[in-house]
Amino acid sequence: MERQSPGMTEATGIVGEFLSLKEDTDADVLAMQCGDFYEFFGDDAELVGDELDLKVTSKSSQGQSYPMAGVPLDDLTPYLKALVERGYRVAVADQYETESGHAREVVRVVTPGTLLETTDADAQYLAAVVGDAGGSSGGSGARGGATDAAYGLAFADVTTGRFLVAEADDVDAALTELYRFDPVEVLPGPEARTEDHLLETVRDRFDATLSLHETEAFAPKRAAHAVREQFGTETVDRLPVGERAIAAAGAVLSYVEETGAGVLASMTRIQAHHGDDHVTLDATTQRNLELTETMQGEREGTLFATIDHTETSAGRRLLKEWLCRPRRSLETLERRQESVAALASAALARDELCDALGEAYDLARLASKASHGSADARDLIAVRETLAVLPAVSETIAATPDLADSPLSEIVERPDRGAARELRETLETAIAAEPPSTVTQGELFQRGYDDELDDLIDRHEAVREWLDSLADREKRQHGLSHVTVDRNRTDGYYIQVGKSAADGVPDHYEEIKTLKNSKRFTTDELEEKEREILRLEEQRGDLEYELFEGLREDVAASAELLQDVGRALATVDALASLATHAAANRWVKPELGRGDRLEIDQGRHPVVEQTTEFVPNDVRLDEERSFLVVTGPNMSGKSTYMRQVACIVLLAQIGSFVPAREAEIGLVDGIFTRVGALDELAQGRSTFMVEMSELSNILHTATEESLVILDEVGRGTATYDGISIAWAATEYLHNEIAAKTLFATHYHELTGLAEKLPRVANVHVAADERDGDVTFLRTVREGPTDRSYGIHVADLAGVPDPVVDRAQDVLDRLREENAIEAKGGTSSEPVQTVFDLSSGQFRGPANADGGERADGSAEDGASLDPETKAVLEDLESVDVNQTPPVELIARVQEWQRQLEDDSTDR
Ligand code: ADP
Ligand code: MG
Repeated sequence: MERQSPGMTEATGIVGEFLSLKEDTDADVLAMQCGDFYEFFGDDAELVGDELDLKVTSKSSQGQSYPMAGVPLDDLTPYLKALVERGYRVAVADQYETESGHAREVVRVVTPGTLLETTDADAQYLAAVVGDAGGSSGGSGARGGATDAAYGLAFADVTTGRFLVAEADDVDAALTELYRFDPVEVLPGPEARTEDHLLETVRDRFDATLSLHETEAFAPKRAAHAVREQFGTETVDRLPVGERAIAAAGAVLSYVEETGAGVLASMTRIQAHHGDDHVTLDATTQRNLELTETMQGEREGTLFATIDHTETSAGRRLLKEWLCRPRRSLETLERRQESVAALASAALARDELCDALGEAYDLARLASKASHGSADARDLIAVRETLAVLPAVSETIAATPDLADSPLSEIVERPDRGAARELRETLETAIAAEPPSTVTQGELFQRGYDDELDDLIDRHEAVREWLDSLADREKRQHGLSHVTVDRNRTDGYYIQVGKSAADGVPDHYEEIKTLKNSKRFTTDELEEKEREILRLEEQRGDLEYELFEGLREDVAASAELLQDVGRALATVDALASLATHAAANRWVKPELGRGDRLEIDQGRHPVVEQTTEFVPNDVRLDEERSFLVVTGPNMSGKSTYMRQVACIVLLAQIGSFVPAREAEIGLVDGIFTRVGALDELAQGRSTFMVEMSELSNILHTATEESLVILDEVGRGTATYDGISIAWAATEYLHNEIAAKTLFATHYHELTGLAEKLPRVANVHVAADERDGDVTFLRTVREGPTDRSYGIHVADLAGVPDPVVDRAQDVLDRLREENAIEAKGGTSSEPVQTVFDLSSGQFRGPANADGGERADGSAEDGASLDPETKAVLEDLESVDVNQTPPVELIARVQEWQRQLEDDSTDR
């Protein structure tokens, strides 16, 4: 069939209407209501046919045939969700009555960031990024206290009403903020649209849809106006962010409004997110530490999945937020610790709290639904029940002295308890015990809520009762058996009489249908009552719907209160979850401080300890010892050890207890990790280029207060390239940045650095070798490993002896030929040292240029080139008495040739 371009000339009627509506929207797909169905036509029908396995039929219009697919009205949501989750923007056109029939109009464009029908507990952020693309914003409208950061960002979760703005100084910092919130949809501002690096990263690294929103929405004046309208002038002027962040916020608001999500009312508060108060965790680090997703992309086995024991989805969301946004404020962390400590030791009270929290629903989401007008009576019951959880939780806290004395008391006192109680009471007296899920057919309210409604209900009930008792009355009055009274769509109300008794019905019975074993009758009186009950049902449905809308609006007007209560419950839930995990796994409260110390006694990896008999290990870093070179054979546990340290620091900075016997942790401002190309190459994730750009990012952004974890850096290239890069990076981190660093390497050569760089120390993961078997002890000890294990392991694995021997020769040769310099100290005159790979020793600065030895001797041949040395060795080994003269001549000629080659080489 020939494809029709969407134009109004070809198609008229319903298809024509569809195509013209489609032309006016920039959505990818249009779902148009046609009576009881939402229909898709043309390309859209084929698309949903492919994506959603919907059956595609065809529809004729003007002699043309168009593909068509449809879903029943009430079933749209799951399809909508599925399409949006696949990244499509879906327009929904509803049908409405007009005087001359009906018309249709796009009422919503559903996009990943404006999808309200989420079932996932995760936050669902819509983000906007306003960049500078090298230019400036013009700066004319600079506001009081405004900054002039290069990037402004805004994040909104339409499902909960959360709204944040943030700033970043450069593109990488902007990406780090984006990664923190993991948005599902990103709106780049006009300048950001030209930034390939930003766009590409968003496309590749995040599962986010990029949407182009009209540029005017990002215009500073217009955006600022929108933000003030929404959040109030005062609030906005007090926000410590600049014009770009406000522009991003304005664009998000306008986008939410334009897509018709109808939740602006639930966005009651704007908050500034300060990167400064948060530990920098770049995207790579979040992935390497497997915080919320493993390297294989799974949820199981992540740090989050391990520590999550929350009862509610709001609590789960909050805990995840904490984990991805660790804090730097000692005060904040100590308050969380206090609560966790109190909860960890109060097991019974904690169980009680968890039971109570188990009854809670997602208040922030419910508030959003109420604002959008999609909350039904059951949702309002959920609101009521959740509001009742707050006093229960707060009673338990008050009744447990340890908890009462902790910051938990304040957390539950923060929401407006009086207002919460009032709303709860209103809902308690309003909504029926078991309301239906439809809101248009009555039965939603209790008696006593509204006089007019009560009157209607009385009359309705009276007729209903009359109908209910009709069968009995007829039996008695007319001596009939087998009589029932019922209703259905076609026959309305009827009296059904069994065949055997059907002949004996009174004269005023009017037969309407004969069935196999019975007959159906009606009477004038029954018809009268039927008309009455239908009228009453309709009136009741209408009145209840009207009352319900009013009540729902009241609930929507309390969005802020609901968010407060929701937040308080979520906080208690998240803290209780941390306490539960700490208590069950013997975690301890780390001592937090401002200094350089990082001392972990008998630490464990929080995730690995769940599934393995874990061997605990210590770590000690301080002002004098800030850089650990971690060596040890493959598979000995280097990576695990380093990740364990990073995870413990991270946990400490969310206020959690940590897996250790004791820990003292100097707060860090950032955690940076780089995992060597091989580990990642195996997963098809990395190239040497990626490895180096990540290293570069660390060297640019880490500070003295950061924790840096380098795992086999330099592995993605040739050995000497690799060693050299690792070596130089170590010097730079040690001398220039002075970050706390753990560096695992299989380059045994790097262990020599400890002798020259004052704050570098060696540790190794011990392995025991007995009778040719290597046992991994998993114990970290001071000092370097005694040798390079590669060849040894090859030997153990049964690689043929000639190959092993030859490998040893080659290694020795390589070592003879190479030496590496170390530059020590931060002074203006760096100490020059040479690491001599042939002797495994450092030589002092005097010999650094490889010149002759001070005593002029050459006994170990260290200063000779390898060829000369080889000749000398060979010469020494010749037994003149045993060698035939002809061979001697040949060998001397060979030596001469070797020496000549050598000299022409220079
Ligand atoms: P490396 O980085 O040295 O090659 P890994 O850290 O990848 O080694 O660890 C190798 C294996 O040893 C992993 O399966 C890990 O679970 C296990 N392992 C590491 N450290 C420990 C420990 N302290 N206790 C128990 N098992 C450990
Ligand atoms: Mg490793």
